[in-house]
Amino acid sequence: MIIAIDGPSGAGKSTLAKRLAKELGYIYMDTGAMYRALAVKVLRQGVDLADDVKVADLVNSTEIDLQEQMGALKVLLDGIDVAADIRTPELSQMASKVSALKAVRARMLDLQRDMARRGSVVAEGRDIGTVVFPQAEVKIFLEASAEERARRRCAELRAAGQRVDLDETLREIAERDKRDSERDLAPLRKAEDALVIDSSAANADAVAAQALAYIRTKTREN
Ligand code: C5P
Repeated sequence: MIIAIDGPSGAGKSTLAKRLAKELGYIYMDTGAMYRALAVKVLRQGVDLADDVKVADLVNSTEIDLQEQMGALKVLLDGIDVAADIRTPELSQMASKVSALKAVRARMLDLQRDMARRGSVVAEGRDIGTVVFPQAEVKIFLEASAEERARRRCAELRAAGQRVDLDETLREIAERDKRDSERDLAPLRKAEDALVIDSSAANADAVAAQALAYIRTKTREN
């Protein structure tokens, strides 16, 4: 069983996906964290993103895995947990740039499909329902107004001890969503058969309740 959750940055995908995974006992797959982990390596090694050969070499010699330990998500980059390093605005932008590249998307597709062999999953990202798992039994496209998404992202970063500015965050989110939506490969797009949930005015409980009700109707159908 695969539950695909897509949508723009800050719409509440992680909150919903984690909650559904916990409630249903499924594996939580944060595909954005995988692109962020790769971005860590690109920055560390100073790889030029315009150099296709170097990028392909790097990505094909990189292992990325997600593991859950006592409720916390480990993001393993070549065996080392980088979860604590990946939630900065710099990494968000680099992940978005890296994710537009062909070699990167091809490798992530393989890794993500391999992970889904471990059991039922709730996977969140941008292209889960359209490209990675077009056969997913349940597809949800989560939206929210840009202002609300920026407010949430700011609150998250502040809670993690970072200094952030609302206008700057709004610009950052808009830039990233534009790049993610306009790229040629696997752009951010709603799958035709996805349920759209707008979380602008809904709290996490209400969004989860709506998603769970939808999952129940879909599992009865299957
Ligand atoms: O979801 P998150 O904000 O952590 O994702 C970081 C970046 O990774 C996104 O802005 C997007 O460019 C990329 N991404 C992607 N496809 C996915 C998940 C994330 O291109 N399935």
